[in-house]
Amino acid sequence: MEGNFKLKRIVNVNDREYKWPVKPLAVICIDGSEPEYIERAIQAGQMPFTAQLLNTGIDLRVDCVIPSFTNPNNVSIVTGCPPSMHGICGNFFYDPHAESEVMMNDPKYMHVPTIFAAFEKEGAKILVVTAKDKLRKLLGHGLTFGSGGSICVSAEKADIASLEENGCEDLLNLTGLPLPNVYSADLSEFVFASGLALLENAKPDLIYLSTTDYIQHKFAPGTEGANRFYNMMDGYWSKLSASGADLVLTADHGMSAKHDSKGNPDVIYLQDSLDAWLGVGVARVILPITDPYVAHHGALGSFATIYISNELEVLPTISKLKDLNGILEVLGKNEACERFDLPSDRIGDIVIISEDRKVLGINPGHHDFSGLDVPLRSHGGLSEQVVPLISNKTFKTEAIKDTKLKNFDAFHLGLNLT
Ligand code: ZN
Ligand code: ZN
Repeated sequence: MEGNFKLKRIVNVNDREYKWPVKPLAVICIDGSEPEYIERAIQAGQMPFTAQLLNTGIDLRVDCVIPSFTNPNNVSIVTGCPPSMHGICGNFFYDPHAESEVMMNDPKYMHVPTIFAAFEKEGAKILVVTAKDKLRKLLGHGLTFGSGGSICVSAEKADIASLEENGCEDLLNLTGLPLPNVYSADLSEFVFASGLALLENAKPDLIYLSTTDYIQHKFAPGTEGANRFYNMMDGYWSKLSASGADLVLTADHGMSAKHDSKGNPDVIYLQDSLDAWLGVGVARVILPITDPYVAHHGALGSFATIYISNELEVLPTISKLKDLNGILEVLGKNEACERFDLPSDRIGDIVIISEDRKVLGINPGHHDFSGLDVPLRSHGGLSEQVVPLISNKTFKTEAIKDTKLKNFDAFHLGLNLT
């Protein structure tokens, strides 16, 4: 038994060793949390707990993975590795052989196990709460549920959570909150309320709480709507800490205003230009931000990938795209995969990234702006790459302070470096 006990102290997954948590470790992924949100809310006196925590803990700015979208980054954080290893580089990819666009929200597209599955195998209990249900299946992949097992649940579907599928039930009673609307700040509050209740109830070893960026898409840093949201989170983080959890806070990506001076989305429509240059049917634009919940961003982000059926046209098209107004980067597939650690079998022949205030679209008919009740804010590009990496813990040694970390080093930071 003692041998087993000792073996449990290190868990090896995806080419990295993780130490067993001394206290429950809660990694919190604040969706779309541009660093300025926390900075401005602290200045406004809305985050007293976090302000105090930053005095003694860790306060870094790190890069997220590109594309700066939700799924690639959440999966990177829970696997501790980049998309080139785990395979998830957007909400969907194009399969040129099948000539179909494939949703990538099924765990079968993940090439590696999560840190959670590896820890569970060694006897750890895992608690994962996501805002939207689309992430739950990816993040909970490989976990076992049922009485005394791990827990993986979404706020969106909290009312139908079951012991067999989620490892917990009766969340509305447990939190004392009604089922939140999927487009609301309440969806994220429900994540924290569930996390807190289940921390006390189920005694997990590793916790992952992932919110939705509904508020960040609507409100700029320092505005009342944003500060109110950060004040709410600050209160829960304080309670999680008081209940004995260590905290590591990060974000999947930042968020920028993406509209012109009149408040209209500032869109570069790629398909129209490509069709004019190459003829219809040669180029296909994929916007990996597209998912079933597009109301708050109209499927508009700053990253696109383009498949070109005629290989000879790739290089000339790259140089034409570079000349378009508002484009930051145009890269061939190999160059893009190397620079951004992307999986080459799920990326088109060209990767294109717009400047910070602009977004990439297909053509005007493809995008529905009717759900945009405020000027567009979105992400996907390099301008949304810097995110916070914060902890109430301190570095083990001075030397570690110089380690270059990414957002997907959140568990590494919490378990190994502090
Ligand atoms: Zn996100
Ligand atoms: Zn978003």
